[in-house]
Amino acid sequence: MSATLQKLAVCLLASEVAPLSKTGGLADVAGALAKYLHADGHDARLCTPLYSSIDRAALAARPVAGLTNVPLVLGTHRYAFSVLEATLPAAGVPVYLIDCPALYARPSLYTADPDEHLRFIAFTRASLIACQHVGFRPRILHCNDWHTAFAPLYLRTGVGRDGAFAATRTVLTIHNIGYQGIFPAADVADLGLPAADTALLHQNDLAAGRINALRHGILYADAITTVSPTHAHEICTPEYGMELDADLRARGAALTGILNGVDYDEWDPRRDRFLPVHYDPAHLAGKAQLKRQFLARTRLTTAPEVPLAGVVSRLAAQKGIELMFEALPQVLAARPLALAALGSGEAKYEQFFTELARDFPGRVTFEAGYDEAQSHWIEAASDLFLMPSRYEPCGLNQMYSLRYGTVPVVRRTGGLADSVEHYDAASGRGTGVVFNDFDAPALTWALDTALDLYARPGEWARLQRNGMSQDFSWERRTGEYLAIYRRLSGA
Ligand code: ADP
Repeated sequence: MSATLQKLAVCLLASEVAPLSKTGGLADVAGALAKYLHADGHDARLCTPLYSSIDRAALAARPVAGLTNVPLVLGTHRYAFSVLEATLPAAGVPVYLIDCPALYARPSLYTADPDEHLRFIAFTRASLIACQHVGFRPRILHCNDWHTAFAPLYLRTGVGRDGAFAATRTVLTIHNIGYQGIFPAADVADLGLPAADTALLHQNDLAAGRINALRHGILYADAITTVSPTHAHEICTPEYGMELDADLRARGAALTGILNGVDYDEWDPRRDRFLPVHYDPAHLAGKAQLKRQFLARTRLTTAPEVPLAGVVSRLAAQKGIELMFEALPQVLAARPLALAALGSGEAKYEQFFTELARDFPGRVTFEAGYDEAQSHWIEAASDLFLMPSRYEPCGLNQMYSLRYGTVPVVRRTGGLADSVEHYDAASGRGTGVVFNDFDAPALTWALDTALDLYARPGEWARLQRNGMSQDFSWERRTGEYLAIYRRLSGA
């Protein structure tokens, strides 16, 4: 990030951008990466759909001249989109908002509607048109997940053969390989490709009757990234590759893992806006005070000395909740332990936590739903934090936990493996408890190990301090993305 290096024009295409729209880590990455590139003097601009949930008045979004009611024909579908220009709050980054109520005025960002693929093909196409129209000639076009994964292909076709993109190189970041944007081959015309260019589509998929958006990003992006180095290896294997592993292996050197950063403006116990008391490694009494307040708030009746484990999670199979079915009742029955869980998702997991709270009254509390304030309280008040994920491309809560002196208990997968180091009592090194096998005995072992460490206050304080000194800031990650941009563009 030296001042002597050339500044780059970077266009980020993202189906969600924090703080405008968010369902997961993609929104954080898009918002933070654009913010830090901009702060470093690069011409970073974002394109994102103008969902009806975005308050255009609060953003003071203004129409881009000449981009009102632009016709877009995709197969037999006709749309008219407009482009509004705004600035990303607290980041200063220019944002082009693609306005097309027929596609983006829905109750949620993502849908299971039959035109889901069209919503994001249209978004991708409209974003390219917006760049062309305003004369933005990005050196890097950075697309994210399946929603914008056709962009690299478009740049190779009649759609993208334009001076605006002559020097453009493409990057695809895979945030969650579980979502691939698959639609029927019968809808191939929806891509709006000139007939000659359909030869660029994955022919075996077409023959099998489907089109896979993410696969085309993997085939055609100049560089591919995913959100942790370990996950970059994992997705090249049949176990984690979700049937895209062979394509990823074929791209070999083009694939890199870059861990997500943490927004320490939001997640730091020194200044957390959701907490009435703040603390740092030298003043852990503040954490103890928050724990006492939290126990009272949530009607947990265990003594403050009893270790408190936290869970904040989407309740989905990916998160390994099923391992807790056996491990938690067993450990709760055998040892002093309290649990605070927050999450929403599949009914069977919500039911499990509801029953656990009933079976261990005063020791287990569960809140079903999405509650930002409560998620900060759990991070601050808990002693340990559980993430036994089946797979985890990056994961954020383990990194938050480290900063809050809340010892993460995680499975060795994806970003968990890259951000938590198993504690070694002999050397005093390490930041958490890490287990390998995806089974309940392994989680039980990890919980017992953590509780044994908790019973040795000197050891525990060391573990907490080790974690609190870790730095997962976005400033560092931006440099890793820039290195890829520079390698591709020769800048
Ligand atoms: P994923 O994107 O797979 O859900 P991540 O760990 O990357 O997992 O990000 C999850 C983010 O969502 C974290 O910031 C976490 O605190 C937050 N989160 C998850 N569930 C809830 C909830 N029920 N209430 C509040 N925040 C939640």
